[in-house]
Amino acid sequence: MSDLFVQLSAPNGCTWLQPTGLFINNEWVKSSNGHKIASINPATSEEIISVYGATAEDVDKAVKAARAALTDPTWRDLSGLERGKLMSRLAKLIEDNRETLATIDTIDNGKPYTVALNEDLTETAETIRYYSGFADKVFGQVIPTNADKFAYTVREPVGVCGQIIPWNYPLAMAAWKLGPALACGNTVVLKPAEQTPLSALFLANLIVEAGFPPGVVNIVNGYGSIAGAALASHMEVDKIAFTGSTETARHIMKMASGNLKNITMETGGKSPLIVFNDADLTEAVKWAHWGIMSNQGQAQVKNVSKVGDPFDASTFQGPQVTRAQYDRVMSYVRMGQAEKATLLCGGKPVKDIGNGKGFYIEPTVFTDVSPEMRIYREEIFGPVAVIARFATDEEAIRMANDSTYGLGGAIFTTNLTRAHQVAGRVEAGTVWINFSNVGDWRVPFGGVKQSGIGRELGQAGLDEYTNIKAVHVNVQSKL
Ligand code: NDP
Repeated sequence: MSDLFVQLSAPNGCTWLQPTGLFINNEWVKSSNGHKIASINPATSEEIISVYGATAEDVDKAVKAARAALTDPTWRDLSGLERGKLMSRLAKLIEDNRETLATIDTIDNGKPYTVALNEDLTETAETIRYYSGFADKVFGQVIPTNADKFAYTVREPVGVCGQIIPWNYPLAMAAWKLGPALACGNTVVLKPAEQTPLSALFLANLIVEAGFPPGVVNIVNGYGSIAGAALASHMEVDKIAFTGSTETARHIMKMASGNLKNITMETGGKSPLIVFNDADLTEAVKWAHWGIMSNQGQAQVKNVSKVGDPFDASTFQGPQVTRAQYDRVMSYVRMGQAEKATLLCGGKPVKDIGNGKGFYIEPTVFTDVSPEMRIYREEIFGPVAVIARFATDEEAIRMANDSTYGLGGAIFTTNLTRAHQVAGRVEAGTVWINFSNVGDWRVPFGGVKQSGIGRELGQAGLDEYTNIKAVHVNVQSKL
């Protein structure tokens, strides 16, 4: 067997054949310079496997494959109905392989297996299924203009879409982007995060099995600074859809400007969770805990849990995804102490799990936090909640909006009028009333301010993947 596939197994007994190559034109290939990137298990800090990392030359091949597929009749002329059938087959294959995919994300990302299985995999399959239903419902309008003329619009694919995704939800982020892109007839070059590429590579085999023609979906693992940059700056890529940090989004926007690419960006957040004095406090505390600590605090939405081995069914919080992320979160804990916030609980690494080398951090809560502190203003992206006080509704709104970000916000109150009035004034792409950080593929998601551009999910997610063409018709054909 070539090193393009390696048999792997996990502590839960699951075994699978792991692809390690670049997936271009429905084939597995090595990178042009043979370079590989190690994927590390954050629960043990040991290498799981090394997989090929794309060079700019490899990205160019993938883009050319996607460009050829875009105009190949097997994809271009496929009816929406047939496209939808391919997608719903893919959704079913994801479900059939959900234990394997969840196991892969557990060892590669560190998230608890029960979470990967029940949350990430459900969201991944259902997102593809949801968009499969739209594939034959992407249509335009007829616009009467005057007695002799009318116009109609058609929705055409944007073209070759470069999709750059992060490590916090490796499969769900892929589904958020592949779903609407494929439903609208685009072709894709997807770059997973170099920290968590394994499940996306496994997914590639399911894309072939579902019957997608060569070149429609290409998946190239690689470093952001090499493969991601090659994709963002490629002159034959028509769109970039990105999820990740605001800083990287800024670079990508500059690189994407060369040919004025269409862009969708979902970036950082520092999301306020406002608890009014009339709230059901028990519920508010439970939801605040869910909002900030779920996914090891690596969800973007500011706000105590069992830290443990990701394969232990009672674990709520696994390790941070990488040593870099672990170091970054711990630096914010030290910063909070230096800023003289009160460390109410946590703040230390957890070393008594497994081999003692995992990137585990105690759930951490700071109180007496004030708006000028960096732990209040900056995205920590770890299991660290910061709590500040407010006295009036106006002050709560002012504090919530005192941020360069605008991704999400949550409001806890039993007063319906207050709930809707405050929801209307919080500057965010999403507001939850009396719960927090629960998404739904049927509902648009995205940010305002420096949290993003455009929307993913829901029907709004489709709009990002079509261009509208207007066709003017002169019925009289006389001037
Ligand atoms: P990045 O924004 O750097 O990474 C996200 C994706 O962008 C990855 O695929 C990455 O590649 C790629 N990338 C990185 N640099 C470039 C580039 N120059 N050109 C094109 N693509 C690039 O996030 P990090 O992983 O570095 O995390 C840093 C912080 O970002 C986190 O602590 C958190 O605050 C925030 N973040 C926010 C996320 C969100 O969902 N909004 C998700 C992840 C992080 P590579 O594979 O090399 O990493």
